[in-house]
Parts: sequence; C-alpha cells; structure tokens
Amino acid sequence: MTAFLPFDRSLFEHPAKIAQIFNKPAIGVLPLHFPIELIEAAGALPVEVFGIQAPVSTSDRLAPPFICSLVKTFLETAMTGGFEGFKGFAIANICDSCQNAAGTLHYATQGRFFTVLMNLSMHPEAQSAKEFLRHVVLNVKEALEQGLNTNITDGKLSHAIRETVRLRLALRKLLEKRALGPLNISTREVIDFVRSCWMMPRSQAADMVESVLPRIQPQSPSGPGVLLSGIVPAPYGLLDEIEKAGAFICGDDLGISWRNTSGPYDTEGDPIDLLINRLLNLEPCSTLHFQRKDRGDHLLERVKQTGAKAVVFFRLKFCDPEAFDHPYLKSRLDAENIPSQMVETDLRDASFQGAATRITALIESL
Ligand code: SF4
Repeated sequence: MTAFLPFDRSLFEHPAKIAQIFNKPAIGVLPLHFPIELIEAAGALPVEVFGIQAPVSTSDRLAPPFICSLVKTFLETAMTGGFEGFKGFAIANICDSCQNAAGTLHYATQGRFFTVLMNLSMHPEAQSAKEFLRHVVLNVKEALEQGLNTNITDGKLSHAIRETVRLRLALRKLLEKRALGPLNISTREVIDFVRSCWMMPRSQAADMVESVLPRIQPQSPSGPGVLLSGIVPAPYGLLDEIEKAGAFICGDDLGISWRNTSGPYDTEGDPIDLLINRLLNLEPCSTLHFQRKDRGDHLLERVKQTGAKAVVFFRLKFCDPEAFDHPYLKSRLDAENIPSQMVETDLRDASFQGAATRITALIESL
C-alpha cells in the first residue's frame, strides 16, 4: 500500500474493528442509494459494506441460490460474527438480492441487530415518486431514531449532508484525475481507498481525501485507457491484471465508486427535501429506471469524458440489474465502434484466470 494513503486495509477483512476504532455505534449499509446522512445525523457511523470478498459456507444454507455474491458474502460476515459490535443494518431495496438480505439477516442473526429496509422508488421520474419518497425517508428517519434512541434534528442532518457532499466531491476529483493518465497509485489502491472512506465518519474521510489529493498525480500514459462498468470490480486482483496487460484504468461507472459519488450536491434548504431531491435526480444506474435519462447515453458520455478506448463490464453472478442492462449498453458501444468485454465474477471465489485472459485479449486488440 502506498505510504501516503492513510487507511487500514484490514478493516475490509475485519469490519468488527470499526465500531471500536471510531467509538460510535456502527450501522452496516448495503449499497446503493440509502440516505446515509440520516445515520450520521443520528450520531452513528454508516459503514458501507461494499463487495466483501470471502468464501461462503454458512449463508449458502439460508439464502436462495439466485442471490448475488455481494449479498451472500455480506450475510456470511454477519452470520459468522464479522459484524460484532455493530448496532444494526440499513438496506435500500434496490433489487431482489437486497430485499432477501434484510429478511435472511434478521432470521439468521435471531434479531440481534435492528434492520431498516428502505423501499426505494425504482422510477424516480414517476409523478408519485416525490410524495412516495417523502413517506419513505420520514419512515427511515423514525426507524433510526427508535433503533438508536435519539432525535435527528434538522441541524444535525444539514451538517451530515454538507460533510457527505464534501466527501462525494473530493472523491470525484480523485476519480476524475485518472482520465489524464495512470495515477501514481494503482487502481486497486484507488478502489480500496474509496471503500475505506465509506467506512469512516464523513468529515474525517473528506479531510483525508482532500489532504492526499495533491499527492495523487497522473503520469504519462503508455497504453490505452479502459473504462470499468458494473457494481464492484471484483475479484479485485483483476484490476492488477488490466494494468499488467498494458492498459490503464482511465475512469469508471461502478456502483462502488463513481455512481456512489453522484450528485446532486445541493446543501442549502430543508434537509429532508435535499435527501428526496438527490434520490429523484441520481445519475443513471442499473438499479433505477429513468425514462428520460438513458444509461447508454450516460455510458457513452463517460467514455468521452475519460478518453476510454474500451469498456470492461464486471458483472457479479446473479446480479439481475446489471445483467438486464448489459445487452443494451453493449449495443450502444458497438454502434460507436467501442470494443467491450463482459466478465462474470463472484465475490466468493478470488480466482480470475479466465476473466484475466479475456480482458488481456481485449487490451491486445486495441
Ligand atoms: S445490484 Fe446487483 S450486486 Fe448489488 S445487491 Fe443487487 S444483485 Fe447484488
């Protein structure tokens, strides 16, 4: 790990340490789109458990076979004591896997953790979405207040929103630098660093990113730029293989990084309205169904912004949202003569030789 990246990688393997390190009640959050600002405003620490890579045995017995490995490895960690010290969990109902996660978690851990399941509006442009989300956000607020025995005041919520926006914007600046050339840190370090930021108090994480930004610098590119798409680019060892094959990762449209830093970035006004407004105006995502915002247009725009010569799609097995989008996205890239390769991966299995061969073949063809 590069010396100037000040975070502890072992947090990913041992998230139970987090509650002790930051001395706050930890609430595990399954991405994406949960309004984490409400958790911070309740005096707790939202810990986004993005893509834990681990073998699974216990959770396979309880969760149905069609559940994605992001949820399976999360459940395995919960069922084998990996979240000891956590107070509860917050999950947005973005897909069947997440919906199953809440019920299975409650059953498997015998109600030891309180769980907030948020019924997100999948159609943010629907006429009723705003009113629906107001009920949802207020219900989530109430559930957190009860679970954490506290009051979420407007002042605390506004502060949490400001600090979360500061973190999102700082991370975007870091992620945007990749378009200028390979950074003096590897993509794997970038992803680990981003993951760690969503496990820390947001003010502390924003300070950390702002302080290292001047030291993260692009170098002259010696190979083609590749854009990554999907939810998590796992197994994470594959990222090193892309760089070893002579390409550099010039940007992404991944749930774990770029999409999770989506605006709007407004911080002024009624804080509940700000949360609702963000949920209504997120950037395109496989888990949302916009009628007027086209994810194909968005991907082509990301290709243009980053100067990518090719796109690699990471699809976790049984991730239906990404699977449904892929044929359309590929057809849009094909129409513009932008080569792409999809690799199907699994967080339960760290081996990646087959996927690495396909990606290397793509890079060699550029
Ligand atoms: S969006 Fe895909 S990867 Fe994320 S929880 Fe749902 S099925 Fe799993």
